[in-house]
Amino acid sequence: MAAPKAHDWIAGMAAYVPGKAKVDGIAHPVKLSSNECAYGPSPAAIEAFAQSAEQVLRYPEADSAALRAAIAGVHGLDGDRIICGAGSDDILTLLIHSYAGPGDEVIYSQVGFMVYPVQTKAVGATGIAVPNKNWAADVDGILAAVTSDTKLVFIDNPNNPTGAYLPWREIERLYAGLPENVILVLDAAYAECVTAADYNAGAELVERAENVIMTRTFSKMYALAGLRVGWAYGPPAIIDVLNRVRMPFNVCLPGQPAAIAAVEDTEHLARSVEFNQEWRDALIAGLDAMGLDAVNSQTNFVLVGFPKDTAHSAKAANEFLMRNGYIVRALPSLPNHLRISVGKAEQNQAILSLIAEFMNGSPE
Ligand SMILES: *Cc1c(COP(=O)(O)O)cnc(C)c1O
Repeated sequence: MAAPKAHDWIAGMAAYVPGKAKVDGIAHPVKLSSNECAYGPSPAAIEAFAQSAEQVLRYPEADSAALRAAIAGVHGLDGDRIICGAGSDDILTLLIHSYAGPGDEVIYSQVGFMVYPVQTKAVGATGIAVPNKNWAADVDGILAAVTSDTKLVFIDNPNNPTGAYLPWREIERLYAGLPENVILVLDAAYAECVTAADYNAGAELVERAENVIMTRTFSKMYALAGLRVGWAYGPPAIIDVLNRVRMPFNVCLPGQPAAIAAVEDTEHLARSVEFNQEWRDALIAGLDAMGLDAVNSQTNFVLVGFPKDTAHSAKAANEFLMRNGYIVRALPSLPNHLRISVGKAEQNQAILSLIAEFMNGSPE
């Protein structure tokens, strides 16, 4: 009997690999592997989440209207051009599934967010991975890679896993060089963390372009990763397509009021951003002082390069940290680096001490 058979292109694809959450033999490891926000969510968001418990027998609002209105109000945007999703991953996936298929090309940075290549493969399209420049996206390399088959260009700005960003003039230059039928996706998952003055997440470009969409999330600086809420701001024609393709109730009922409370608590966000900047900079300075190569970051994590000698390699450091109860992110695409999310104050201090001990220690 013939077994059910998926599309040919799915047989060869690998699933997205999330950050590790467990270490054998350690009851409560410190998880700094998924860029979750150590400062935690707004208390008002937790309260709104708790209050929604009585209503979970109901379906959520299908079009997240109240949440879209709250986002629009806080950010000064047009709520009709917003779509919400089960995390921004939902929307990134919808974009690929709606606009690309076999024979089409999707461009992204070689070192970048893994959802783009995974979902590009899922639809049978061809991923074009352009080498990074100074750890961020390479605008000239991307423009040179565009062909008549290109459908989408993804820019994670700032980049995950490197933490580097492109200044706004570079995004403008990229947009100016792209054909009008190619969608430029500005994935601004870390927009709230950015402190560089020449950064812009892209809303103003979305308003004047037919082919630019910006995605955002409540998972990172709003600290609601477990609720899965994200959103995008795009041209009406693209938002209309995504609304037709998406699941009808894609944002869960507790997620909607929690995200409304989170986006409206601008003071909590400001404190979280300040905390993040302080510790991100302290981690970079501390790692640099050990002679390690910490990439300048505009996010809530730091990518750090280790020496290639086996005693002090990234692999050995990762194992040392795990034995000591700290989980960071090892990256197949960057075997000499580790990605460390900003943690609570004492966790950041502890991981710096552990890495110093590792670097000073002789091989076991
Ligand atoms: C974390 C992340 C996302 C999406 O996260 P969601 O939880 O699905 O909103 C998107 N892009 C980048 C670059 C990220 O790091």
